[in-house]
Amino acid sequence: MYFFNNIAGGQVLSTSERLLVTNPSTLDMAGEAPKASLEQLDQVIAAATAAFPGWSALSDGERQQYCMKVADKLEAHHEELARILTTEQGKPMGAMGSMFEIGGAIAWTRYTASLEVPVDVLQDDANGRVEMHRKPLGVVGSITPWNWPVLIAIWHIIPAIRTGNTVVCKPSPYTPLSTLRMIELMNEVLPAGVVNSITGGDELGGALSGHAAVQKIVFTGSTATGKKVMRSSSETLKRLTLELGGNDAGIVLPDADPAAIAPGLFWGAFNNNGQTCAALKRLYVHESQYEAVCDALVAFASTVVVGDGFNEKSELGPVQNRMQFDKVNQLVRASIEGGSRVLLGGPVDDSNTLFFPITLIATNNPDDPLVHEEQFGPVLPIIPYSDLDAVVAAANNNDNGLGGSVWTNNLESARAVAGRLECGSVWINKHGAIQPNVPFGGVKCSGIGVEFGQEGLLANTNIQVVFLPASA
Ligand code: NAD
Repeated sequence: MYFFNNIAGGQVLSTSERLLVTNPSTLDMAGEAPKASLEQLDQVIAAATAAFPGWSALSDGERQQYCMKVADKLEAHHEELARILTTEQGKPMGAMGSMFEIGGAIAWTRYTASLEVPVDVLQDDANGRVEMHRKPLGVVGSITPWNWPVLIAIWHIIPAIRTGNTVVCKPSPYTPLSTLRMIELMNEVLPAGVVNSITGGDELGGALSGHAAVQKIVFTGSTATGKKVMRSSSETLKRLTLELGGNDAGIVLPDADPAAIAPGLFWGAFNNNGQTCAALKRLYVHESQYEAVCDALVAFASTVVVGDGFNEKSELGPVQNRMQFDKVNQLVRASIEGGSRVLLGGPVDDSNTLFFPITLIATNNPDDPLVHEEQFGPVLPIIPYSDLDAVVAAANNNDNGLGGSVWTNNLESARAVAGRLECGSVWINKHGAIQPNVPFGGVKCSGIGVEFGQEGLLANTNIQVVFLPASA
């Protein structure tokens, strides 16, 4: 059982009410987190506001050093954080699970720390000199989901503090524990008030995004909630980075080799049990390869071990929560009712488990909800196509536009199809790979703005231009 506190201004924020957190593998209690009140949210924002003048006045190099110290601190607690994460999230310790996620958090912190905040000279001639500076915004509110809770919190927090902002982070009530411990650790090396935490119900997210003293919200979660965040942020014209839902399509061209691409297709779709924004969520396969790709995927998927995250053989864990499990189950049932064929797995009747079998569905129903809606779970619909223009249109016929992939041995065809997809990232012969040096974000209803790289870093700043007289 884990029990952590919120930290505001470097101090423990005492809260009598608690949130209960469930271990999705065992359905036992994983631990407790504070259920903070709206008044306490004001206190936490006040602590971040108080820390801003001192933190923003530090030199760029000093903040860089602090971020490096955060990375060292997380590295020293790598396994501890991973164990908390597996307990509350369910993902395995090994494979692409918790050790991998914390490792990613450390790597992202180091890379982001190493970036430069530039001063650009836009003009320097006889008419004068114009410099473009990047200034921190103030307090940044971070609201995170339950699928990659630590890594996503790092993506919010580190670029914000690196550029001189202070942060209030509100984790998902499903997975608050690993984030609370991480922020406790950060506070061992950062000045008080630079990074603060607040856990409790969803109402805290609404209040944070409506708060007058918060200058920016970086939100990762569902599109429906993202729209609410945008609405509540509008009154104070906050800066926004919204990383929202996805329904990524993959297109297998006729020349691809089914056996060679099956592992990449599988992990593109099932990484983190499909609970990944940029997972492959609809797979379109040319009719000439359809049965061969379905067979290769079934053969590969049948070798993957699903189980408790602390079992070292497990490669995938349970679905994280009942709400998501029921949604996945209901989408699979609706798909079957619409005439689709179960190739592997299928719906579950047992309400005493959050383990959902790896499920592959062959469907050719143009109205299949499993194709049109984001399932966010361990299920992949596979759809045959015959015409390239029609499949590109089908891939784009969705409100989401996060990622997409093309599977082929012909790079020229791959580039041509990639250019026609309406999404923020396109991968060739893989799906969902992200890097700290490469901007990532969605188009259409998948979000606003990008994270990572120089563009993601500078999204935490305002531009200030300075007009100087011509130098003598
Ligand atoms: P969610 O939208 O239900 O919750 C996300 C966070 O928002 C939680 O912390 C929640 O407490 C908070 N929240 C709830 N109501 C709020 C409100 N009115 N105002 C402000 N905050 C509020 O999402 P989830 O179920 O935790 O995560 C799954 C979704 O996240 C999926 O749709 C997935 O695609 C998306 N996601 C996107 C990315 C990306 O980078 N695009 C990454 C991960 C997850």
